[in-house]
Amino acid sequence: MRQLLTLLLLAATLTAASQKTYIHCGTLIDGVSNTPRTNVTIVVEGNKIAVVQPGFTTGGASDKVIDLKRTTVTPGWMDMHVHLEGETNKNQYLEEFTLNPADFAFRSVGFARTTLMAGFTTVRDLGGTGVNIALRNAVNSGIIQGPRIFTAGKSIATTGGHADPTSGYRADLMGDPGPEQGVINGPEDARKAVRQRYKEGSDLIKITASGGVLSMAKNGSNPQFTEEELKAIIQTAKDYGFKVAAHSHGAEAMKRAVRAGVNSIEHGTYMDDEAIALFKQYGTYYVPTITAGKSVGDSALIPGYYPAIVTPKALAVGPLIQGTFGKAYKAGVKIAFGTDAGVFGHGKNWREFGYMIEAGMPAMDAIKSATVAAADLLGVRDVVGSIEAGKLADIVAVDGDPLKDSGAFGRVVFVMKDGKVEKGAGVKAF
Ligand SMILES: [Zn+2]
Repeated sequence: MRQLLTLLLLAATLTAASQKTYIHCGTLIDGVSNTPRTNVTIVVEGNKIAVVQPGFTTGGASDKVIDLKRTTVTPGWMDMHVHLEGETNKNQYLEEFTLNPADFAFRSVGFARTTLMAGFTTVRDLGGTGVNIALRNAVNSGIIQGPRIFTAGKSIATTGGHADPTSGYRADLMGDPGPEQGVINGPEDARKAVRQRYKEGSDLIKITASGGVLSMAKNGSNPQFTEEELKAIIQTAKDYGFKVAAHSHGAEAMKRAVRAGVNSIEHGTYMDDEAIALFKQYGTYYVPTITAGKSVGDSALIPGYYPAIVTPKALAVGPLIQGTFGKAYKAGVKIAFGTDAGVFGHGKNWREFGYMIEAGMPAMDAIKSATVAAADLLGVRDVVGSIEAGKLADIVAVDGDPLKDSGAFGRVVFVMKDGKVEKGAGVKAF
């Protein structure tokens, strides 16, 4: 019996190793070249791209063919700013008091799946309660369907700052959260908070360098970290191999963060010329989140949607981000695609492409921002982000031509992640 089992396992392993998948692409945008290619075949072996060949080629009897001849194929998209634990709704501010971690966890399973089905094969989760770490582990173990997740775990803030989890609570519930909860004051706390994220299993560090829109606090843009605190965070992050993402609306906050050496600035709303020059000098990525800006601006018009302290910030900050993005792009700031999904409905991340294009970025550059540029920001450019031999097989196909019609980004007909078909028909045995 045991012998039979061993033989069966061996046979299964051999089949998996030798079976190839031939993906026939009508149009291929590979993430590297500026010119799409027509009628090409991507050969996938195991979880990797073996080769990209001209024409429609096929293999042997045990190989598979996937017909995407009537679609445009791109590398899997990468959203550098999502929050998979939640999704905007009128009761969101109450849910912290009414839901248990398990409730957040079960919901996040659906959000992760929706994100993957929308064509996003990799995301950065930039802050939650820590459920996002368990979510990443569940996806990695194949228990649930979802994108490849790089998670910050809990964001790091200062007392009363954006991401202090008890801002806005009544006095007896407010307490005094510390580095363990992601709230720091001073360089010692800053180092401890980074080490705590390491202990919990985060992949990167997220800090809230300035005030924010949706937190229960008055100021949406003031600097909330001293230079000493920023320096302590970045030095410690380097010791542990963490990249650092900094939420910032205000110019002073983002200048301090860029000078301190963060890898990306999120939102960047009030970016001025001096800030733009610093981005370019330090090679810092800008992650715009235009979709979130527009979405909070719209939701703020619905009476009672946000608490009274949030509404004026949402109205003032949200609509500005697209203009900032256009200015930053034209000035040559490095852009990585990011939406802040969760602030709006998961699965609508693709709308960001349209907003970027509308603000003056060519569609090909928008695709690159969500593929090669995002992979570069994550430090995994040699593994994902393009359709080239040796890369992980993360492949998306849309119905239509996304270079001419940004609506095509919303018509994802095929998703492969890590060599596995997650969405799409057309799979047949050869
Ligand atoms: Zn966010």
